Amino acid sequence: MTLTKPVVAILGRPNVGKSTLFNRIAGGLVAIVENRPGITRDRLYRDAEWLNRKFSLIDTGGIEFRDLSTPLSAQMRRQAELAVEEADVILFLVDAQAALTPDDYTIAHLLRRSAKPVILVANKVENFDKAEAELFELLELGLGEAVPVSAVHGLNTGDLLDAVVAQLPPDPGEDAEPDVIHIAVIGRPNVGKSSLVNSLLGEERVIVSNIPGTTRDAIDTPFRREGKNYVLIDTAGMRRKAKIAELTEHYSVVRSLRAVDRSDVVLMLMDATEGVTEQDKKIAGYAHESGKGIILIINKWDLIEKDDKTMNKFEKDVREELGFLQYAPTLFISAKTGQRVNKILELVDFVAEQNSTRVATAVLNEQIREWIHLNPPPTDKGRRLKILYATQAGVKPPTFVFFVNAPELMHFSYRRYLENRLRQTFGFEGSPLRLVTRQRE
Ligand code: GDP
Ligand code: GDP
Repeated sequence: MTLTKPVVAILGRPNVGKSTLFNRIAGGLVAIVENRPGITRDRLYRDAEWLNRKFSLIDTGGIEFRDLSTPLSAQMRRQAELAVEEADVILFLVDAQAALTPDDYTIAHLLRRSAKPVILVANKVENFDKAEAELFELLELGLGEAVPVSAVHGLNTGDLLDAVVAQLPPDPGEDAEPDVIHIAVIGRPNVGKSSLVNSLLGEERVIVSNIPGTTRDAIDTPFRREGKNYVLIDTAGMRRKAKIAELTEHYSVVRSLRAVDRSDVVLMLMDATEGVTEQDKKIAGYAHESGKGIILIINKWDLIEKDDKTMNKFEKDVREELGFLQYAPTLFISAKTGQRVNKILELVDFVAEQNSTRVATAVLNEQIREWIHLNPPPTDKGRRLKILYATQAGVKPPTFVFFVNAPELMHFSYRRYLENRLRQTFGFEGSPLRLVTRQRE
């Protein structure tokens, strides 16, 4: 049960043939969400494989969108958003035998604005020689040429899968970097990023080599410590090298965000003499949203005049400013004197592990039953939220899917209760958690 595989989403209006294509591609392969008696969920996630590439397939039409009270166009938009959020590749299916509808244009518009690769698929094409005119019309969607298929007859679906596989992100197995922890060192200019990187690397560690990062924004330094491999993504180093003196705040934010994307654990540096700034909040928010492990590092602690209460007070202030990061451990250091710098990698290891923790479904559901028993979900206008079961759908960040009778009954306070319980029971220090609700009737 891994959602660490790339995800391919099938999107389109009702009746264009999504579930037919889904079944065609996924064939008889095992459903990702394990089967338990009484629970049918054949239209959720399924494993598929083509040319030795494994991926997960979602039929967005099969997930929680059968609510008849919601207008179709709103449902379509939600589907598209879900696909954009979750998928690595999006298959946008249209019916070649029918005219395009406003909903098709709405989805196309949404998809054009997303950064995800989209493959336009013209389904129900039975005669490939005669399909030209229909396919030509589809260019109006602005998504490039459509791949014609017949889902029901399995025509041309091999070509479609070739196109899908070509768009999948690189196979991590092929890159063969299994146990490397990528650490992004981020923070505003002058918080001490370079000093910290130097201090970390200056200790007894072996630097493997110094290679430019995949972007021109950072320098990646791989190194080993106690048999473990790390890559330090240093957003400050490149600036020195490039001698660009006038970097705007904006550019430093963009650079930090890209470093966050490539990392497993984020070291969020703040300056003890300045406290938390707006830019710190922005970057920290991004790290939180992107599900990375996060450690808050207060640097330049040597400059602070302190008594025995200073650290607690400071920590309280930071937590108040960064309310959404209650789970992130804090460390007070001085990159200059080296104070507590030696604690950082231990904490990185710990947080990386927490971020990839997986809870078995049986254990999870046993716990959830107890939590519900201790604190039953509140009612809303006479209706009570029912949690039927839950499963951990992925790691990095740990993502829990709760199958419920009505997702709108999952209120913020109950969601927070569940998150707190998950943390009390299973840890997840330094790691954001995702709680997703899905409808099951
Ligand atoms: P969904 O609502 O998008 O999931 O669409 P379905 O997969 O349920 O298909 C809707 C209808 O279109 C069904 O009656 C299918 O048999 C039919 N259909 C699906 N693919 C094809 C195709 O390639 N050719 C033809 N002629 N009909 C198809
Ligand atoms: P960067 O822009 O984030 O890479 O920051 P630098 O590492 O270049 O540091 C900016 C300035 O802060 C330099 O003058 C450093 O010497 C100083 N600095 C960095 N860390 C510390 C620290 O822990 N204590 C003190 N007192 N100064 C520091």
